[in-house]
Amino acid sequence: TDFLKISGLCARIDDNGTPKDILRGVDLAVPKGEVHAIMGPNGSGKSTLSYVLSGREDYEVTAGSATLRDADLLAMEPDERAAAGLFLAFQAPVELPGVNNANFLRTAVNAVRRARGEAELDAVGFLKAVRAETKRLHMSDDMLKRNVNVGFSGGEKKRNEVLQMRMLQPSLAILDETDSGLDIDALRVVADGVNSLRSPEFSALIITHHQRLLDYIQPDRVHVMAKGRIIHSGGPEVARQLEAQGYTQYLEAAA
Ligand code: ADP
Ligand code: MG
Ligand code: MG
Repeated sequence: TDFLKISGLCARIDDNGTPKDILRGVDLAVPKGEVHAIMGPNGSGKSTLSYVLSGREDYEVTAGSATLRDADLLAMEPDERAAAGLFLAFQAPVELPGVNNANFLRTAVNAVRRARGEAELDAVGFLKAVRAETKRLHMSDDMLKRNVNVGFSGGEKKRNEVLQMRMLQPSLAILDETDSGLDIDALRVVADGVNSLRSPEFSALIITHHQRLLDYIQPDRVHVMAKGRIIHSGGPEVARQLEAQGYTQYLEAAA
């Protein structure tokens, strides 16, 4: 009943002509309806994992697999991944100069609706749906008229990400949270966004350095990543242990 299943995943990047192995056998399963967190020291490969799952071309998968509902995620084009119910939010959200935020969102929503065999939203239907969400997120409608993420503050980017996530209604959300610079308000926006979607039909993988975020989200499982592998998995208490004692205990046990 594993919804997302990652087995022995290895990936490398071309580092100025030299192949550099970053993921070194990631094993991870997220069952349907569960919210899991990945924590780990800087440079352990957390963002790389989210990029590889999103299908970024700079990474070469050298071994292993990743499946979503038993379908080969790594063989899908990025738009097919979205159609399959995957939503990804990156540590550094892309800025799209010249692309209107509302148009971008409507195109994305309708692509997913088409793929699911649902009727597309017309301009009026979309506006109605998006206004309900911006109100809920305390976002000004002005942000819909701006270019995607261009000149957005950290908090505005977070709101925009959660807006995208709520509009797309994914069955699996993977969020790679920034290491720093987010205030408690922004953490709460993310936490509320994830919590509002929690259901037996929704799974999430939250990559974060913030124990505080996990106070609000309460993950079912916490995985510790180091040197390109998951080195420990446990319940929510793992996040509290990390907060108190750091990564050393897990790094030593894994060595
Ligand atoms: P994390 O998100 O856990 O901090 P990353 O996935 O960002 O880790 O990085 C993992 C490792 O891969 C780091 O050592 C980083 O320097 C390296 N890395 C990431 N991207 C590149 C790249 N484009 N070229 C070379 N090395 C990279
Ligand atoms: Mg990092
Ligand atoms: Mg990272």
